[in-house]
Amino acid sequence: MNATLAFITLCFNRLTRGRHSHNVQSIPPPDRRTISHPYQCANQNGDLATCVKGSCAGSWKPPRAHHCSVCGVCRIDFDHHCPWIGNCVTLAKMKMFLSVLFVTPVAFTIGVFPVVRLLWSQILDALEASRMDPNTQRIWWSRIYSWALGGPLGRYLFGTILGFRILKGNLDVIDNQTSGSLVEVPHVGLHMTVIVGFVVSIFSFILAIKTSLQLLKGLTTLEALRLQAMGKQNIPLFLCIPDENDHPLDAGGTTSPASVVIPLHLGEPIYDMGARDNFLSLWRRSFIPPKADRQNFDWPLINPTLIKRLHHHKDQ
Ligand SMILES: [Zn+2]
Ligand SMILES: [Zn+2]
Repeated sequence: MNATLAFITLCFNRLTRGRHSHNVQSIPPPDRRTISHPYQCANQNGDLATCVKGSCAGSWKPPRAHHCSVCGVCRIDFDHHCPWIGNCVTLAKMKMFLSVLFVTPVAFTIGVFPVVRLLWSQILDALEASRMDPNTQRIWWSRIYSWALGGPLGRYLFGTILGFRILKGNLDVIDNQTSGSLVEVPHVGLHMTVIVGFVVSIFSFILAIKTSLQLLKGLTTLEALRLQAMGKQNIPLFLCIPDENDHPLDAGGTTSPASVVIPLHLGEPIYDMGARDNFLSLWRRSFIPPKADRQNFDWPLINPTLIKRLHHHKDQ
């Protein structure tokens, strides 16, 4: 239990750090003519994307990078901005982030297990006390409005809370009569803490599963959201295929004459390398997010089926 809590705390601390680092401002934009592999470009001319927001001020915005409006910087391999850690989650931090999400419900289960019987018996005691108490019967159980607050669930929830108050009141009386009583005090605060822990655990687990499934499809959270929005807004995406046989630098021009820019079909998976390879690319990342490499940029691999289709398109 202590080990899992220490693990979560350490990871949490690590994830919150570097709010303005890991940005891409200081990576020099590559010379387009030197790029020899297909890449996602900003427009029909094959231009590299730039970011004009905040301090980015027109700097290069590599493929899969996104400007986080909360952090005010562009992040490489952006997934989403997480309000809980007050920081962006990127693919570099994903392994640690997912670990925290998966370990949280485990820590909760381990922590609650020893006291679950005690808590349950206290709930039953409180409910019974509440039902037996004539006063509570009069102001709550016999009233129609007790159903209005969340239906049967709300009726029993609030009725039980009233029961806790009655039990607490009874114990205060006993305490006053026999000082130093060792009677176990049912504490509604402990129950509330467990409920909050339960909700957080469920939330963590759902988020972990959802994010993992998206990653297996080669999608970050942002890309998955964009995919949904695409149908409505039809955001155009382009891929540039430089010609490997041609050396455009020799031509001396600013654009490679042999490169072809092709618009993508709606929802075409650009970075999906297949479930197995998507999993392995995440698995092989280091657990502790590495320091940002300010000089080099690792171009994201592009779906081979897509490249095949685009080459076919290009050859026509
Ligand atoms: Zn930016
Ligand atoms: Zn952010």
